[in-house]
Amino acid sequence: MKNTDILIVGSGIGGLSLAAKINTLNPELKISIITKSDAIESNTRYAQGGIAAVLDTINDSFEDHINDTLKCGAGLCDKSIVEMVIRKAPERIKELIHLGVQFDKKSNGNIHLALEGGHVAPRIAHHKDKTGFEIETVLLNQVQKRKNIKIIPHQVVVDLLIENSNGNKRCNGVKIFEELKNRTTTIYAAVTILATGGCGQVYKNTTNPKVATGDGYAMAKRAGAELQNMRFVQFHPTSLYEENKKETSFLISEAVRGFGAHIIDEDESRFLFAYDKRGELATRDIISLAIFEHMQAKKSKFVYLDMRHLNMKAFENHFPIITEKLKDVGYDFSKDLIPIVPSAHYQSGGIKVNSKAQTNIEDLYALGEVSCTGLHGANRLASNSLLEALVFSHEAAVNIVKTIKLHTTLSKQEIENTEAFLDNKWVQNQIESLKDMMSTITFQSENYNYDDAIDIINSIIEKTETEFKHKYYSIELLNLRNLAITAGIIVKDLVNSHKVKLKMSIDEI
Ligand SMILES: Cc1cc2nc3c(=O)[nH]c(=O)nc-3n(C[C@H](O)[C@H](O)[C@H](O)COP(=O)(O)OP(=O)(O)OC[C@H]3O[C@@H](n4cnc5c(N)ncnc54)[C@H](O)[C@@H]3O)c2cc1C
Repeated sequence: MKNTDILIVGSGIGGLSLAAKINTLNPELKISIITKSDAIESNTRYAQGGIAAVLDTINDSFEDHINDTLKCGAGLCDKSIVEMVIRKAPERIKELIHLGVQFDKKSNGNIHLALEGGHVAPRIAHHKDKTGFEIETVLLNQVQKRKNIKIIPHQVVVDLLIENSNGNKRCNGVKIFEELKNRTTTIYAAVTILATGGCGQVYKNTTNPKVATGDGYAMAKRAGAELQNMRFVQFHPTSLYEENKKETSFLISEAVRGFGAHIIDEDESRFLFAYDKRGELATRDIISLAIFEHMQAKKSKFVYLDMRHLNMKAFENHFPIITEKLKDVGYDFSKDLIPIVPSAHYQSGGIKVNSKAQTNIEDLYALGEVSCTGLHGANRLASNSLLEALVFSHEAAVNIVKTIKLHTTLSKQEIENTEAFLDNKWVQNQIESLKDMMSTITFQSENYNYDDAIDIINSIIEKTETEFKHKYYSIELLNLRNLAITAGIIVKDLVNSHKVKLKMSIDEI
C-alpha cells in the first residue's frame, strides 16, 4: 500500500463521514481508509435506536437536550462541548439526509422522533430499528464512488508511527499487519485519524461485534497519547439472554422501553421503581446496576422484558430487526417474556481530544467512540454517540483541510517479514479469562482484588510483547494484546478513582 495524504483507521460513522466531508471540502486530497474486516463491519452498522437531535422546536428545545446530556453525564461533561454538539446536530442530520440517509417520517412528512431513556422529549431520528445500517450503507456508498478515497479492508493497523518533532511527538502514519503475506509494512501520511470504535470485547457479554477489541485505545496508549475516563464503560440493560450465546449479545434497543415495554422479575414485579422513580425510563447505568443487584439478590441469571401489553402491529412496524430476531430464537412476544441481561455496550471515555478532534500528538486525530470529547462525561445519553461522531468529523475535516502540511518527500515503505503465531488455544484461553475477570470487576469495582487483576494483565502484555519482538504475529495475538492493554487502562482508572492501595506497581500499564 502506498503512502497517502490522509490516513483514516476505521470504517464506521466516524471514519466514513470524515472521509466524505474532507473530500467535499477538498477533492484533491488523497484519503485511505484502512479497516480490519469487511468495510461495513463496525459498531455503527448495528446501531438500532437512532440519532438524538432537536428537530421539533415546538415540543423540544436545545436547552432540554443539553440538560438531559449533562444530567446523564453526572457532572463530568464539558458543558461547552455539550452545547456545541447539540446546537450543531440539526445541521449535521440535514447533511446526512442530503447524502441519501432515509429517516422514518410521520404522515405529515416530518421526521418521526422516538423517545429513549434519559430524554425528556421524543428526539431520536431513526430508520426503523436499523438506523446504523442505513447510515453505514449510505456513507460507504458515498465514499466508494468518490475519486481520491480508497478503502482497504481486511488490514489490521498494529501501531502508530511516532517521531519527535522539536521536542513534541508527531504521528506520521501507521504500521499494518498483512496476515496473508506474513509481513508488517508502514504507511506514511500527513495526517492520521483513529476512528477505531469501542472495546466491548473486553467483557464476557457485549453488544459490540468481534472487531471492537479496543485497538485504538491500546495504540494511543503505546504512542503516548492521553486517555481519560476509561472506567466509564456503559452497560446496556436490555440485551437478549441466550444460554449458548456467541461473541456478541443481541441488543434490544432502548427505544423498546420508550415504546412502553416493562422490565420485570420472575414474580412479574416492576422492580426498577425501587431504584429510580423513572422506572424503565431511567438512564442505562441506573437500570443496569439495578438489574445486576436484583439478579444477585434473587440468584437469577436474567430478568425479563415484558412486551405482552404492547400494540404488536405497531411494534413490528417500528422494530423489524428485533421482531425477526426474537421470532428466530422462538419467542412469541405477545405471550412470552423475553430474558434479558445487561451487556457492555459503549466506552464513554477514550483518547482525549479538543473541539476539533485533535489529540495531544501532532497530526493525530481521534473520532467517534474511541475519542473522549467531553460530551458524555460519566455516562452517555442514549443516541448521542452517532451524533458525536458526525459533529466531530465535521469539525476535524474543516481543520484538516485548512492546516494540512503535505509531504514534499515521501518516506520509504519499511517491510518486515513475520512468522505465524500458532498457539491459538492459549490466546483463546487468555481472552476468556480476561473477559471473565473484567465482567466481575465491573459490578464489584469497590471490593475487587486489583493486585490479582494487574498481575494477570501484566503477564499477558509481557508474553505478547515477547512474541512480537521475535516477529511472531497473528490477528488473534494482536487482539489479545490490545484487549489486555485496554483492560489495563480501565483497571488503572478504577484503581485511581477508588484510591485503592496496591501491593504492586501499575506504572507500566
Ligand atoms: C448494538 C449497538 C447499538 C447501538 N445503537 C446506537 C444508537 O441507536 N444510537 C447511537 O448514537 N449509538 C448507538 N450505538 C453506539 C454507536 O453505534 C457507536 O458508538 C458508533 O457507531 C461508533 O462509531 P465509530 O465510527 O466510532 O466506530 P465503529 O463504527 O465501531 O467503527 C470502528 C472501525 O474501526 C475498525 N478498526 C478497529 N480496529 C482496527 C485496527 N486495528 N485496524 C484497522 N481497523 C480497525 C473496525 O473494523 C471498524 O471499521 C450502538 C452500538 C451498538 C454496538
